[in-house]
Amino acid sequence: MEADVSGRLLVLTWHNVHPTWCFPARRGVGARGFAKQLAMCRRLANVVPLEDAARRLAEGRPLPPRAVALTFDDGYRDNLSVVLPLLRRLGLPATFFLVPGILDSTVTPWWEVVGWLIRRSTAESVVVDGRSFPLRHPGERARASSGVCELLKRRNADARAAVVEELRERCRPAGTPPGRDMFLDWSAVGEIARAGFGIGSHTCAHHIMARENAATQCEDLARSRRELESNLSVEVRHLAYPNGKRDDYDAATITGARSAGYAAAWTTRGGFCTEMTPPFELRRYVIDPARGAAAFPLLLRQYLAARADTDIGPVDAEPPCASSM
Ligand SMILES: [Zn+2]
Repeated sequence: MEADVSGRLLVLTWHNVHPTWCFPARRGVGARGFAKQLAMCRRLANVVPLEDAARRLAEGRPLPPRAVALTFDDGYRDNLSVVLPLLRRLGLPATFFLVPGILDSTVTPWWEVVGWLIRRSTAESVVVDGRSFPLRHPGERARASSGVCELLKRRNADARAAVVEELRERCRPAGTPPGRDMFLDWSAVGEIARAGFGIGSHTCAHHIMARENAATQCEDLARSRRELESNLSVEVRHLAYPNGKRDDYDAATITGARSAGYAAAWTTRGGFCTEMTPPFELRRYVIDPARGAAAFPLLLRQYLAARADTDIGPVDAEPPCASSM
């Protein structure tokens, strides 16, 4: 007999699978770990399309037990080369949250630029916001990259761009900066859309919404939806907030999202979704592919394995997620 967990939805989020400048890992570890994670979802869960599951929750209709939806943010190129073939082989639905500015190459994701500047720096330390980051060995460079990214997430887009430019001068990096080959373009995501996968907006340029003023947010959310719909000939009703933590969106973001015509918006705050979860603050767990099955904390493993006599605990628990973007 199945447990009565039909009122819950677990949504998982990935970004890149292969290592990048900002998210380094040993080559092959991410792809192997991700394949294990998907196989685990296929074996233990009922993987449902995100949009349909959200509609059911909003209407108070039941979901299958152990319902799980899969999402991918930012449009890394390995979403086409690694993720799509695996999803197809396992017959799993998924939704991709995309950034028009990245797809048309007018935006180079700042976090990858920061990761490259720091890892390829010829300077032995950098100072950002009065904080000094030593760069003498790979461990210090990894800590500096994530530390600088966390500082930059607190700024608005213009201030962040200014710091990245200062960083470029201070780091005097060697080699070629991250280019367009790290991310999908319109033609590649057209393939994903035509294959029937869900497409959602992740804003026009991946600005962290709450750092921008209300008018900018409103215009961004409407435009990103419009551009995705017209370029891909699909309906876009779902939004994922960049970075997605509690202070990365605000009341103006939710108002802007509603008026732009979205039906729902997704955070990266861990937890299950139920019919009580506010539709513009839906929960997702960010999963690190390199950690394989270990990336699913105990609560999620209990949910996936739930039977009638299993108490899987509170629905709004927020265990720590992997780092998001
Ligand atoms: Zn993102």
